[in-house]
Amino acid sequence: MDLSYSEEYERFRTEVRQFLDDNWSEEDRNSSPPPEGQAALMGAVVRTDERATAFRLKAIERGYLYRGLPRAYGGSEQAFDPLKSAIIAEEFRVAKAPGEVVGQGPSMLAPTLVEHGTEAQKQKFVRDTLLGKIIWCQGYSEPGSGSDLASLRTRAELDGDFWVVNGQKIWTSNAKESHWMFALVRTEPDAPKHDGISYLLIDMKTPGLDVRPLRQMTGDADFNEVFFDNVRVPKENLVGPRGKGWVVSRSTLKHERALIGGSFITRRTFDGLVMVAQNAQLRGRAALKDPVLRDRLVQLETRLLASEYNGYRLLTQQSRGEDQGLAGMVMKLFTTQLSYDISRTAMDVLGDRGALARGDYNTPDMGMFSYSYMWALGILIAGGTANIQRNIIAERGLGMPRDGRR
Ligand SMILES: Cc1cc2nc3c(=O)[nH]c(=O)nc-3n(C[C@H](O)[C@H](O)[C@H](O)COP(=O)(O)OP(=O)(O)OC[C@H]3O[C@@H](n4cnc5c(N)ncnc54)[C@H](O)[C@@H]3O)c2cc1C
Repeated sequence: MDLSYSEEYERFRTEVRQFLDDNWSEEDRNSSPPPEGQAALMGAVVRTDERATAFRLKAIERGYLYRGLPRAYGGSEQAFDPLKSAIIAEEFRVAKAPGEVVGQGPSMLAPTLVEHGTEAQKQKFVRDTLLGKIIWCQGYSEPGSGSDLASLRTRAELDGDFWVVNGQKIWTSNAKESHWMFALVRTEPDAPKHDGISYLLIDMKTPGLDVRPLRQMTGDADFNEVFFDNVRVPKENLVGPRGKGWVVSRSTLKHERALIGGSFITRRTFDGLVMVAQNAQLRGRAALKDPVLRDRLVQLETRLLASEYNGYRLLTQQSRGEDQGLAGMVMKLFTTQLSYDISRTAMDVLGDRGALARGDYNTPDMGMFSYSYMWALGILIAGGTANIQRNIIAERGLGMPRDGRR
């Protein structure tokens, strides 16, 4: 397999590097505060201050960020080219430059609004979302409606010019920090469960809306419960036709994705594990010299290499415009499980010190693994649990009989 980029792409990489040298100084590179929490695990630059925004605007102007979205709404409207996107992501990461704002707003809501929103909704929300000025949370899950999302019960009834919302959402990431929520609500209670759901944009400051944080075992409270008690939402905040929220929420995100990102993060986690093994003792000697651990490391790195090459394969397929089928889902399942196994191995190496909290100097990794170990359990569930993904892969990919429980 030839993994080198063609001359055209190498020229493009040089251009991107030049742009970064001209616009993101050494001082800028050193001035970004280290990201915390989830963002730290993703290696993301999360700045949205004035300097970062000015830089992002230039990068959009140059065609480097939000490539799939129209210029009219703040994107850079470039031809679909996953290899260029991968190069941009790689170079921005190396230069610690602000790339696309990380979050559900830019990655999920903005493309959905461009596809299904009214002109007024696009004008009001998309550009500010892309620049991180409006922060969004996703109000899909409810108690009892996670994997079986279509069974959701939070209802919205039309009262004059307003939808009146009553019910509860749960596991709403970042609801406390968010300005707006994009939510699925039931507007036609008598329709079959996939019909009668609508897609609403809800201002988090509306009276009757109550956000209650849920503390996780990491110590953070990334999630929240959100309660709606006669929350009045202007009629014009409905996205797409009434009762068609399921279709709106499933709309394919047409923006480009740097699939390789998943393996990049896992590679960083693995390198962290090797560092821990170099510095820790196991059964009376340097952990890295322990044959049992060495065996586990080799197995993990073999899986990591397989996921990296699979990432290249997906990228090649994407650049040829070929349908990926379920390969992206296999990749998510594979890398999330691998991240968990890497973190678990690190916990075994750390022994008792694995119980120390993030930021503790008494561990070789400042307690990062105790944090990523706990997070890895959540990522296996987020965006569709591993069980459900296995079912889909088995049924649609391998043609196995349907799971008897549904
Ligand atoms: C880190 C994280 C962030 C999240 N952020 C958000 C957010 O911002 N907004 C939001 O709306 N939601 C969010 N969620 C919620 C997430 O989407 C749900 O947790 C997920 O869809 C699973 O639903 P559930 O928790 O209700 O589990 P359930 O659906 O109750 O499942 C429980 C268990 O049963 C299994 N199971 C269920 N049905 C089947 C089946 N048919 N076949 C086989 N096994 C089955 C599941 O795999 C799982 O192991 C987040 C979750 C996590 C962990």
